[in-house]
Amino acid sequence: MSPGKKSRELDLSAFPSGAVTEYSTLVCLACIFELFTSQLGLAPRTAYSEIKRYTPFIEELTAPKAVRPFFDSEEKHPHCPYCNAAKRWHARLDTYRIEGGKSTDVARRALAKSLPTKDGRVQFIETKTDRRSLFFDWLDTQRSNLDLDNDSWLIDATRAFLERLDPKTNWSEVFSDLQVARRSQRLEEGWEREGSRLFLAPSIYNEVLIVQYLISRSHTHSGHTFEGRITLMELIRRLRHSGYLGAHEITESDQFEILEQLVEKLSGGPGRAKLYYVVDRRDFMEKVKSVYARYAA
Ligand SMILES: [Zn+2]
Repeated sequence: MSPGKKSRELDLSAFPSGAVTEYSTLVCLACIFELFTSQLGLAPRTAYSEIKRYTPFIEELTAPKAVRPFFDSEEKHPHCPYCNAAKRWHARLDTYRIEGGKSTDVARRALAKSLPTKDGRVQFIETKTDRRSLFFDWLDTQRSNLDLDNDSWLIDATRAFLERLDPKTNWSEVFSDLQVARRSQRLEEGWEREGSRLFLAPSIYNEVLIVQYLISRSHTHSGHTFEGRITLMELIRRLRHSGYLGAHEITESDQFEILEQLVEKLSGGPGRAKLYYVVDRRDFMEKVKSVYARYAA
């Protein structure tokens, strides 16, 4: 352990508990070097300066499940799960999400002043958002990630929605070798897997239909769902018939007003959010330097 290790931990004691969320992930520099040199064909020197500037997306740093070149490990001497590289190739990236507002503003400004932000060793990223925007961002992400021309996207979208609804469940296990997802005739809530089939409680199934409709409606004139290609009117009729609209006290008669209510329900209600992310890249920049020294030797 280096002597500077302890002082590197940010002092967040000035913040109210619950206003700060911490994320930590490891990134494999061997994987990144491999990508930049072998796959992108850059010379080591160029790769080095590119990697120094490399700024991961907040989503990558805060993802519930790390994907290459990121990984999570509790081990003392972990190996990269993708390329087996040893610890000296790993850099740690710590990210802190601070909710904006009167209770955190003073502490946040003091924190920003105390950190080396000029050279990008620690980055402050401010984002303004509300739950509705978060939801539409999410829909956009799905739209670009899914292959809407292949019907298997309906299952993939179901999984994405469930991951959003309940990030703690291991959905890759639940969806492994899954053939179909259906509306359960007997579950009141939740889901169950039976053989290669996944049964969803009616309220979840209905929300999956809404999400599928919203993801695909700009792709074709109508939306594409487990229940086939349907218009907004048909979607609403199904939701009303199954009791979903009544259960959520959606009593509007105009279809676009109903759609608004559905979006509000799925996005978690109205509410604005200002978020600040602090990305500590100090370990990353030091490791890039030492790794390159070895690489170039
Ligand atoms: Zn690796």
